[in-house]
Amino acid sequence: MIYDFIMYTSSMEFKTIIEPFKIKSVEPLAITTPEDRKEFLEREHWNLFGLQSQEVTIDLLTDSGTGAMSSEQWAAIMRGDEAYAGSHSWQRFNKVLSELTGYKHIIPTHQGRASEKILATITVKEGDIIPSNSHFDTTRANFEAALATPVDLLCKEGLDLLTPAPFKGNIDLEKLEALLDSEDVDKIPFVLMTITNNTGGGQPVSMENLKAVKTLCEKYNKMFLLDACRFAENAWFVSQREESYKDVEIREITKEAFRLADGCTISLKKDGFGNIGGVLAFNDDALAEAAKNVLILTEGFPTYGGLTGRDLDALAQGLIEITDRNYLEYRARSISYLAEKALEYGIPIVQPAGGHALYIDAKTFLPHIPPHQYPGHSLACEIYLIGGVRAVELGTLAFGVAGEDGKNDTPATHELVRLAAPRRSYTQSHFDYVAEVLEKLVEKKDTLKGYEITYQPKLLRHFTAKLKPIS
Ligand SMILES: *Cc1c(COP(=O)(O)O)cnc(C)c1O
Repeated sequence: MIYDFIMYTSSMEFKTIIEPFKIKSVEPLAITTPEDRKEFLEREHWNLFGLQSQEVTIDLLTDSGTGAMSSEQWAAIMRGDEAYAGSHSWQRFNKVLSELTGYKHIIPTHQGRASEKILATITVKEGDIIPSNSHFDTTRANFEAALATPVDLLCKEGLDLLTPAPFKGNIDLEKLEALLDSEDVDKIPFVLMTITNNTGGGQPVSMENLKAVKTLCEKYNKMFLLDACRFAENAWFVSQREESYKDVEIREITKEAFRLADGCTISLKKDGFGNIGGVLAFNDDALAEAAKNVLILTEGFPTYGGLTGRDLDALAQGLIEITDRNYLEYRARSISYLAEKALEYGIPIVQPAGGHALYIDAKTFLPHIPPHQYPGHSLACEIYLIGGVRAVELGTLAFGVAGEDGKNDTPATHELVRLAAPRRSYTQSHFDYVAEVLEKLVEKKDTLKGYEITYQPKLLRHFTAKLKPIS
């Protein structure tokens, strides 16, 4: 099914999706049998986070820090200058990010949540309210730890999982203005827009929506920040779906998006093409100074943050490569290819396909398993048992609230399973293999069983919980 608002512009003359790169270095994939996989999963009490890497054939657990570096990035690793202060690598990192974002102060950190922690420390106080399209979970947790209330004001198209719309990551502007216009206005330190919206299915935000947020922030005199982990994927969707950006270079779209805001946090483990790294950036001098003071206490000197010189150098190169049109087209098409296959097999998914992952709606797919028996978990386990593909549950196991004294859990809003694609790591035949696993999944759907938890920690239970299938 092709959505009529998707206007692929370039190499659609061929239907085969080719990786716009060739392979210089390889790593063997684990090939296991169904018996092996059952044994591994039983050993780990049916928790996919317990598996060892060599027990997973295609690892779609996350797209964070799992991508492949280019030969130029490996060359940058060798070029890395490990001077404590003012290294060449820092200068390159600073230059690339300054040109890309336009922000005056570039502050390196070891990953996204370190940037968030510093941001929360210097800008957020008890009782504050932080509006967003959707907060990512670590972002939310950092603001909550500062005793503030993060609020998600996702547009109504975004709340409807199964119906396609071009910009399901947009914020609801009316709700945002109502909040800014209320007596709570003084409790709002800034508005944070997440591009693309990871929590809502990797859905993009339009430039029109970002511009409207900027206008509102100016009207109510609020700072406007971006959580820009997937800034390049967002720009790709803008180039495909927003008429007035059809002929604009991807790099120019990314630059314009950053320049609408006053600063950003980024996990460079996503669109930085890095295995580690993050950044915090502002225009405001006083904020940057406050951030650097915290940085020195927690991450390191301001010209390296928590990173080595070689990391900074590889990231600088990655940030140049990420806006390549051919790469972004291949990336978006591999995910939408998987989505088309899933739909063809009758699997309900978040539509349209997101920028970094396919999200299966387990609640709709497995109506016979109630939320407190974790339909998403059951699905993720079966995907592993069928073909050694590791996905992640994002439903009641991850986000629900454990029931006290034998009562059922309070379920999460959605029961999703995410198959996230690492950048440049897998080829089209790997995606075909995953599609075949999904096809087999449909045959088994009615036989899938719910799970019960036999052990769970108090916080972030999905990482270490022990479960067993309900017989
Ligand atoms: C990954 C991510 C973060 C946190 O970054 P880490 O590098 O994992 O700490 C924050 N926001 C969004 C939208 C993300 O996807």
